[in-house]
Amino acid sequence: MAFPTETVYGLGADALNPRAIAKIFKIKKRPTFDPLIVHIAEMEWLHKLTRQVDERTLTLIKKFWPGPLTLVLLKSSLVPDIVTAGLDTVAVRMPAHPVARKFIKLSQTPIAAPSANLFGHLSPTTVAHVEKQLGKKIDLILDAGKCPVGVESTVLSLVGGKPVLLRPGGLPLEEIEKVIGKVVRQSKTKTIQSPGQLQSHYSPRTPMKLFKSLNQIPLNNNVGVLLFKRPVLKIKARTVEILSEKGDLTEAAANLFLALHRLDESGVKIIYAECIPAVGLGSAIMDRLERASSKSAT
Ligand code: AMP
Ligand code: MG
Repeated sequence: MAFPTETVYGLGADALNPRAIAKIFKIKKRPTFDPLIVHIAEMEWLHKLTRQVDERTLTLIKKFWPGPLTLVLLKSSLVPDIVTAGLDTVAVRMPAHPVARKFIKLSQTPIAAPSANLFGHLSPTTVAHVEKQLGKKIDLILDAGKCPVGVESTVLSLVGGKPVLLRPGGLPLEEIEKVIGKVVRQSKTKTIQSPGQLQSHYSPRTPMKLFKSLNQIPLNNNVGVLLFKRPVLKIKARTVEILSEKGDLTEAAANLFLALHRLDESGVKIIYAECIPAVGLGSAIMDRLERASSKSAT
């Protein structure tokens, strides 16, 4: 079933049951080479699912769990191969959302869950988003309103010597580096280690392009514009979405997928999205905007 987390809505199934997991891949049309994040509500499950809970891992967990940080660790034999796409590692997260935690606890098993959308499409931050993409194919959606963080979790690999950022997300990298020092940023041109790194991902159906300054884009009735904050002048476009009136990154992240869903449905021919400062949560927002626009890049 689909359930809310603080990041986005997830499509959850018993992480220890390969048949249930297979249904997730089928419903989402997700390629089986794309591993799932396993969600837990109790620490004892971390020890059962992984064989690598070292000091660095515990330091991060103490500071950031529950919350939007996913850790990639060496897996135990308890984790079915279908969950990890055959990798020797497993991605684990303890969500902070009270509804997610209760659902996982009551399930008495870890819950493997990708975002509750069709593969490659925009992530859902409300029940309406889930219903639109998957409503006919799933039995239940737990409704807890809008997801407070609004972008997916930060994915950090702790498998090698140095920690590696596999996906920027709801926990800013700067916060992590304050605790464990320098983190390696996975270069975009390198081979893909984590399918969340696929260039075209998190995409609207409408073509999308990024811009730095409003005078770079043609404004007319076929155009939708996504802005970081309220502009000084009124904008002549069919649809204008403002992520945060005052330009607050936390608020902008929480509104990102809502705004993209609305723009996608507004019937515009093209979406122009403003580049935003790539610091803190801005890095995750820019990452999603770059991917959302990559199919349309010329
Ligand atoms: P999603 O569930 O759609 O938010 O995507 C989960 C992200 O976590 C994807 O980018 C996965 O590739 C990544 N992920 C899950 N498990 C692993 C793993 N064992 N190693 C590296 N990345 C992983
Ligand atoms: Mg996803």
